[in-house]
Amino acid sequence: MSQRVYNNGRGLTVRVDIDTCTACQLCYDRLPQIFVDRGDGIPLVMAKVPPERVYEDLLQIAEDCPSSSIILNWTG
Ligand code: SF4
Repeated sequence: MSQRVYNNGRGLTVRVDIDTCTACQLCYDRLPQIFVDRGDGIPLVMAKVPPERVYEDLLQIAEDCPSSSIILNWTG
């Protein structure tokens, strides 16, 4: 079984723009190991340097975020 490779040897960092986040809950409903509701609907990023196994989910969630508030950056 093949596995898609996204990182090409690089790492991924995650942050959320809390000024544009609409607190829709999508990110922490779908990936609670990375995002947690800080109590008012805005997510905290629990793993700013996430493990590779969640890259595929992260890329999809960042795409699905209705306000494009999840900011992913490749490092290295
Ligand atoms: S998916 Fe986007 S808009 Fe929704 S809570 Fe997460 S960061 Fe905010």
